[in-house]
Amino acid sequence: MGSDTQIQAMAEAIAAIQMRIAAAAGRVGRSSEDVCLIGVTKTHPVERIALALAAGLQHIGENRVQEAVSKFEPISELYPHSTWHLIGHLQSNKARRAARLFDYIHSVDSVHVAMALNQAAAERPQGRLNILLQVNVSGEGSKQGFDLADWQTHSSLTEAWFHEVEQIVALPHLQLRGLMTIAPWGSDPEQARPHFVSCRMLRDALQQRFPEQPLIELSMGMSDDFELAIEEGATQVRVGRALFGERSSKL
Ligand SMILES: *Cc1c(COP(=O)(O)O)cnc(C)c1O
Repeated sequence: MGSDTQIQAMAEAIAAIQMRIAAAAGRVGRSSEDVCLIGVTKTHPVERIALALAAGLQHIGENRVQEAVSKFEPISELYPHSTWHLIGHLQSNKARRAARLFDYIHSVDSVHVAMALNQAAAERPQGRLNILLQVNVSGEGSKQGFDLADWQTHSSLTEAWFHEVEQIVALPHLQLRGLMTIAPWGSDPEQARPHFVSCRMLRDALQQRFPEQPLIELSMGMSDDFELAIEEGATQVRVGRALFGERSSKL
């Protein structure tokens, strides 16, 4: 659990990020309540997650199912109400474990994976599994996500994607909540801004096409660019290093 001083230090780190979130939201007339801080704990040990939860963090992000399983089990009894987000690539053969463990899957990037999750989610006592569709709107960096870099100029690409989304929203055990994107890595965070704008516009286009779906969430922004992402509409920011320090191994 950690000592009182450790919990205090963690609480201060969380408060510092929350203040930056509030300032970014304030700059564009948004409320900080509309932005959820997800603490990304990949590579960090269980003790550190427990500390963050003791210090008041509610949302935990992990990018590997296997790693999350081993961390979740010792923690779930102590903190049964914490909310777990899978933010890394998901293979369909891990869908079953992912559906049992996570509250949100941010990385759905094919109809195939959505169908596997839907089947797995049928057994969930918690009910429908929340999903986001991961979109690649930059054409650079991570090759994961639906390839939509040219969606604004190629309407046939967008239409084909809408057709795939149609199949996903028809799945009864999933609840589509919005979109997730990872901006390409760059030395200047400002370079991420147009990709965040594109992701928001794509979400708006999707919402227009599927008016009955609650497409509220935009999961975008990490340690180096979460404030920009909030200025451009992010509702969920995934913050690792700015909260927990540098990771010892690269993932
Ligand atoms: C690791 C990771 C993050 C957090 O990155 P930081 O730069 O440490 O804030 C966010 N999103 C995804 C998908 C990640 O894999």
